[in-house]
Amino acid sequence: MECPSCRYANDAMAARCAQCNTTLSHDAGHSPRYRNAVAQINTRMYVGVGGFVGFVILGVAAVMLPDGAGEEHLKMFAAIGGIIGALLGRYIAWKESRS
Ligand SMILES: [Zn+2]
Repeated sequence: MECPSCRYANDAMAARCAQCNTTLSHDAGHSPRYRNAVAQINTRMYVGVGGFVGFVILGVAAVMLPDGAGEEHLKMFAAIGGIIGALLGRYIAWKESRS
C-alpha cells in the first residue's frame, strides 16, 4: 500500500514503509476499489439472505393459511417473499454503504 507520509508504493502486506519506516495502517485508508469490492460483497450477502428469509417466511405463511394454499399459491407467495426479501437486503446494503 502507499505510504501516507512519503507516498512510497509499498508491498500490499507490508507493515512498515520501506522508505521512511512509517507504520502502515491496513484498517484505515483503504482504497476506493477495496471499499467498492466490500460494498459489493455486502450487497450480495444481504440480497441473498434477505431473499432466502423472505422466501421461507412467506412460504411458511402460505402453508399456514386457514383454507390451505394450493401449490400454485404457495409458489407465488414464496416468490414474492423472495423478491421482497432481496429488495430489503439491497436497501439495507445501500443504507450501510452510505453511513
Ligand atoms: Zn514512507
